[in-house]
Amino acid sequence: MSLSKFYIFTMGCQMNKADSERLEAYLISAGLTSTEGPENAEVAILVTCGVRQSAENRIKELAPRWKKVNPNLKIVLTGCLALRPDVRDYLADSVDIWLPITELAKLKNLLGLEDNAPSGSLDYLSLEAKYSSMVSAYVPIGNGCNNFCAYCVVPYARGPEVYRPHQEIINEVKNLLQRGYKEITLIAQNVNSYKSDGLDFADLLKKIDELEGDFWLRFSTSHPKDLSEKLIATVARGKHTAQYFHLAVQAGDNDILRTMNRRYTAEHFLSLIKMIRDYSPEALISTDIIVGFPGESEQQFQNTITLMKKAKFDMAYIAKYSPRPGTVAEKMTDDITLEEKQRREIIANDILKSTVVENAQRLVGRTLTVLADEVKKGKNTVSGKTRDFKTVLWTGEGEIGKFYEVEILEVKRFGLKGKIKKRLVGSRCTS
Ligand code: SF4
Repeated sequence: MSLSKFYIFTMGCQMNKADSERLEAYLISAGLTSTEGPENAEVAILVTCGVRQSAENRIKELAPRWKKVNPNLKIVLTGCLALRPDVRDYLADSVDIWLPITELAKLKNLLGLEDNAPSGSLDYLSLEAKYSSMVSAYVPIGNGCNNFCAYCVVPYARGPEVYRPHQEIINEVKNLLQRGYKEITLIAQNVNSYKSDGLDFADLLKKIDELEGDFWLRFSTSHPKDLSEKLIATVARGKHTAQYFHLAVQAGDNDILRTMNRRYTAEHFLSLIKMIRDYSPEALISTDIIVGFPGESEQQFQNTITLMKKAKFDMAYIAKYSPRPGTVAEKMTDDITLEEKQRREIIANDILKSTVVENAQRLVGRTLTVLADEVKKGKNTVSGKTRDFKTVLWTGEGEIGKFYEVEILEVKRFGLKGKIKKRLVGSRCTS
């Protein structure tokens, strides 16, 4: 059977979204076209996430359902679950091809395509991407992780760290800027480990920051154990670089951090926060926190709360711990009840809400440059992001991908409400 239509379903993180953009370009270059759903496709690709059980459950349910609706559909499963033996067992009847994403360039042969798609052992990150937005693009600078945090599946799912040559990354960004992209986010599991021809991540960031154009530059994500003063200073001096750090702390108790294999202490983390704010007083800082890790006592949880109060995060993604197959933490006793995890999650979220609102108050009355990223015609509202990643909502004029000067009137729970002053021709930041 000749294959002509494909459908890609993506779950999970920015890295998975960037992978899907490369998959899409690869299949288009092989002569296929994309469809809106699996019903009319001949090939469906599941880009899976194994970080949470709920994401895994969704895939468990989707693959057999698609096969039932469209028995001729070839299902390709990639992403975090592609190498898991138990997943391969329970989805054996539904999935036709198991594809570690690093082997993307083999897909042509696996599908029996006769077209001229790239094949062989090409590094998949070097493949072209079909970006899903015309304004913002994720640019992967590497793949994989060597850190083996006790709770995390990523090192098993994506393998050891590999990084793209810096010139290849710079060329991809230059190409995006020539095409009018306004927001570039450099991504890797740990950007701070980046190395290429003697350059580290701060050097790469500086080179991209020096490119001409009206654009904002972000990166994600940073492991606190590897965050250097050099990078903090580079961000502070940046012309296009957002004064924004996503720095996952996960816990505020040193014993829990040790059990998690995070390799820093709460004190070290707080010293990084201080250094960031000394260099960039306006910097926004977000984090990830896990509550209810195995053995986490009430006092240890309170140490996380104390750290949150000291760090005064601008945003945090707070998750209840759930064991993931194949990880070190899976072998520990998951001894915190779901009710207790929920209680801790609520307490942590309450602290977060108070620091988010407190930090944002300083922006009221100021005029900020905002890049519009969503227009709701029916409601006559526009929302967008400031350079430093704060969401702003206003009423009236707005076009996706354009910069506006917006006066901040009010702080909402996780964003700001403003009044449009004027549209800008560039990204000049007046904050
Ligand atoms: S640094 Fe830790 S949490 Fe992040 S991807 Fe690597 S193992 Fe997972």
